[in-house]
Amino acid sequence: KLYEAEERNRILHNTIQDLKGKVRVFVRIRPSWADAQRTAVKSDTDLHMECRGCGLSMSHCTLIDPHPSAASGTQHVFKFDRVFGPVDSQETVFEEVALFVQSALHGYNTCVIAYGQTGAGKTFTMHGGRGKEAGIVRRAAQKIVETAQVMKATGQFYNLSFALSHDDVGPTGWEYSFTCNYVEIYNEQVRDLLASGAPKVNMRIIGSEVLTKDFHEKTFSSVDEVDLIVSSAEKQRSVAATNMNETSSRSHSVFILKLQGVHVETKTKLNGCLYLCDLAGSERIAKSGATGDRLKEAQNINKSLSTLTDVLRQLHEKADHIRYRDSKLTILLQPCFTCSGKSLMIVNVAPEPENERETLNSLKFAAKVCETELGKTIRNIIKY
Ligand code: ADP
Ligand code: MG
Repeated sequence: KLYEAEERNRILHNTIQDLKGKVRVFVRIRPSWADAQRTAVKSDTDLHMECRGCGLSMSHCTLIDPHPSAASGTQHVFKFDRVFGPVDSQETVFEEVALFVQSALHGYNTCVIAYGQTGAGKTFTMHGGRGKEAGIVRRAAQKIVETAQVMKATGQFYNLSFALSHDDVGPTGWEYSFTCNYVEIYNEQVRDLLASGAPKVNMRIIGSEVLTKDFHEKTFSSVDEVDLIVSSAEKQRSVAATNMNETSSRSHSVFILKLQGVHVETKTKLNGCLYLCDLAGSERIAKSGATGDRLKEAQNINKSLSTLTDVLRQLHEKADHIRYRDSKLTILLQPCFTCSGKSLMIVNVAPEPENERETLNSLKFAAKVCETELGKTIRNIIKY
């Protein structure tokens, strides 16, 4: 039994190693507004109908756009690491994200990025609502705090449901302390949401290191503390937003959880970071007519999102040189783009017919950076 457990840990460890520098892509289709009015419990058949309704047919990892392209007459078939449909709950989504989050405790720099047009469900996915509706930020904080408690009590490194039983390991373990930063990037300027008045801050780069020391830092040791930090930061954000004309859909917000672990006996240190990003809307802002501030804003969003695309594609292609310095967003996320980093992008799409063009743009974007094989490996291991 012990051998089996060790063998599983070994496979998992190798898989985590394999994930280094890799990009995984999930797609999430939110319920359509018409469906949201319906209260009936949804079955698999309903799910199928809903996806037909939004013009896409979906399975676990595939989305098919049934409308042949006018130019080539071919259907688009997209493959992703995972596709979530309108009935998939916040919990279901988080189950697939959890391993990723946990690896930050093992000293990796990881990011989870919500991408998509305005109204597609990015903020719902990242922040969500109360109770069952809680999004990735709250669930990730909870997972981190809980896992750290087990690692302290047992010394166990890979705390997964199938890991070694508590008797198999020594009595001492890992002790963690947690801090966080919360920033917003608007018009290529970084604002610190944890400092009062959300002032502009500098991000200095020294050598290959991005210094976030100028960012206000808060410590936390429970999920409730994270809730308080996030809600007070959101207030800062909305204060700044009214001065800047409802910027929330046009700015990126990045919540950074920093996890410092020390092994009680060996004094081995681990530093991991988890970056949780709610991006600006990816919709093309009409170029004609936009002038002055609006034009600059649109150009900056396009620039940061296209730099992000380039970087993710370069990572996918294992390029020698990753051009992350072209935007503030990618500079900030740079630790996740190195060999000890991992990235997960959740592409949110809106199912209404009027969103079809933006949906196709999002899916094409995502398909460019997608890595499918590894997602399958992880799922198989988890099932095993
Ligand atoms: P975005 O941040 O991409 O602009 P939001 O997250 O604000 O979009 O989503 C728009 C609306 O749709 C919100 O009212 C949100 O609560 C709702 N919504 C989004 N995704 C879901 C979902 N999976 N289930 C239920 N409601 C959702
Ligand atoms: Mg939003």
